[in-house]
This record gives sequence, C-alpha cells and structure tokens, in this order.
Amino acid sequence: MPQYPVIEYALSPPPLEELADVLRPALQSNFAHASASVVTCPDLREPPFHLAAAGLSGDERIADAGGQRNLYPIPNLEARYSLLDIAQHIHMSADRGFLIGAGAGPFHVLGVNAELMPNLSWRDGFENVTNLTRYAKIVNPATTHDDDDDNKTSSSPSSPVLCTKSPSTDFGLMANLYASQGLQGPVLRLTAHTRTGPLNFTDCIRHALREHYRNNPISLGGTFLIRSGTANLHVMPDFPGGPFRDRAHVDAWLKYFDLPAPLVCLSVLHSFDPDPERLGLRLEHTHCFGVGGQHAGSRGGHYHYDVNGPDDEGVVEYEAYFNTAKVLYRVDRPAM
Ligand code: ZN
Repeated sequence: MPQYPVIEYALSPPPLEELADVLRPALQSNFAHASASVVTCPDLREPPFHLAAAGLSGDERIADAGGQRNLYPIPNLEARYSLLDIAQHIHMSADRGFLIGAGAGPFHVLGVNAELMPNLSWRDGFENVTNLTRYAKIVNPATTHDDDDDNKTSSSPSSPVLCTKSPSTDFGLMANLYASQGLQGPVLRLTAHTRTGPLNFTDCIRHALREHYRNNPISLGGTFLIRSGTANLHVMPDFPGGPFRDRAHVDAWLKYFDLPAPLVCLSVLHSFDPDPERLGLRLEHTHCFGVGGQHAGSRGGHYHYDVNGPDDEGVVEYEAYFNTAKVLYRVDRPAM
C-alpha cells in the first residue's frame, strides 16, 4: 500500500438535537416547507438509496484525499488512489466500515476521466467488499458541444451521460469521503420542499452552521434524495490535451446538465476550514446518481443546485440523512 502524508484534526460536534434546532429555521428561510429532526437511520441499503451499508454511525470521520490541484492547472495522471487504502490511512477498522462521498473516477481503469460516487463497505477484512460505487462519464461528446450560450443539454433517451457501477475500488485525482462503520444509529433527518431562497441545499446547511457555530468547525457527511424536481449537475469529460489556461477554461471544459429526480446524492460538507494552511479542505462536495424511473443510468454527476422555478415541471423536494464527523483527515494534499 502506498504511504501518503496524513494530517488529523479532531472535532467536537454538538449533539444532533442541537444541530436540528439550528438547521430547522435556516432551511425554513430558504424553502417553503422544511423540517429537521433526529431519527434512527433508515436502512440505506434499501430503495431509494441503494447504499452499501445500512447506516451512518460508528467511527464517524471525514477524509479529504488528493485535491483539485491534481486536476488544475495540470492534470496529474500519477494521482491514482484506492478507496480501501484511504480507509486504512484514516484508521478505519478492518472489521467493518463504509465509505460514501464524491470524487473523480479511476481514469486509469475506465480509460476516461469521470465523476465518482464512492459507495463501498467491507466486513471481516478489507478484501471482503461490497462495492456499489458508480461513475458518470460523457459518452457522446458530439451532443454536448458548446454551440449555445449556456452550455447545457437536457436529459433525454440520447443523454450524453452514462452513470453505472464502477468495476474498481480505485479513484483518481481527489475524493471527499464520509466514513463510518455503517451502523444504524441516530442521524439528522432534514427535509426541504420548494426552494424560495437563493441557496442550494448544501450551502443552506453550511452557511447556517458557520453562522451559528462560528469558529467551532462542524463537518457532516451523509446522503440526500432529490425526490422531485431537477438538479443542475456537471460531468467532467476526458482530460484536455494540455494544461488548463485558467479557471474559465476549466468551467468551459465541464459539461453541465439539468437532470430530473429521483437522484441519490452522496455528500460531505464543512462549515469552514479550521486550518487552511495545513488542511486546505474542499468545503462541500456532493455527487448524485439516478435511481428509479426511466433512464436512471443516464443521470449522474456533481451537484450544483436545484432548478426550481414557477415554470418548471416540478418543485424540488429533498430528504436527507446526515451524521457529524468526529475527526477529519487530510490525505496526500497536493503541493501548492
Ligand atoms: Zn465533484
């Protein structure tokens, strides 16, 4: 196993009941209907979630591995990782564990750059793995040329996105991972319906935590279902031939889509970075995959926001289950 530099940062999160009290009014100020409570985690292996373990409890921690510096300005094709190596770097037990989150696909396995939805558990050893990780890639670049101003393509049977199971436990470039033993315990349950404010779901949560807890960092990981509505997602196409010219070049390179629910999202977020010099955390990273309905395999990518206006076909509806991380790990932070 490769040995990566690891920085560990201990957190002291408040009780989940207190977080529910903080998040409830924040969500209600940004959505027409919202709730926040503490429940026993439902079995996330069941539909609609389709996750690799039942719950989000036990050894709760977050890993930020690699980073965007491995993509920009010059893609670092040496940045190849194993989810199971990262699990061991963050001292997860071989007895049992569960990783979910958002990262970049194992380009060295898939033969193309892609979005990754890590979703993997193990029991009685790291070789005994249930790997439900998916990836999303561009399959028909000809349909996504930037011919129009907004660089968007709507979902259709000829969708240029393929979202399917990964054949590998590897990833590339970066990943933001919520790790636990996968046990069913108390979790935050958040619901939100019909967005009325300017913030997307995850930013609404992050901003509320930052405002209330100030310099006590709060980090959450978990999953949310976008039950109805439409989400704006991006999917990374294959690497450009050379370095990116600037940030605008990256934004023009990414392919954006408005894709319909239902979508299962895997999410890691922090209220802020308590030590940017050492940690350099990505503050939010959420990836989604389509479930149910038609063309689930043509829906997936990196979550930006919900598309929820009076003229849209359906208003957005979220149902989320989150737990707090008790410790952060920064693994193999790229050189600045
Ligand atoms: Zn992403």
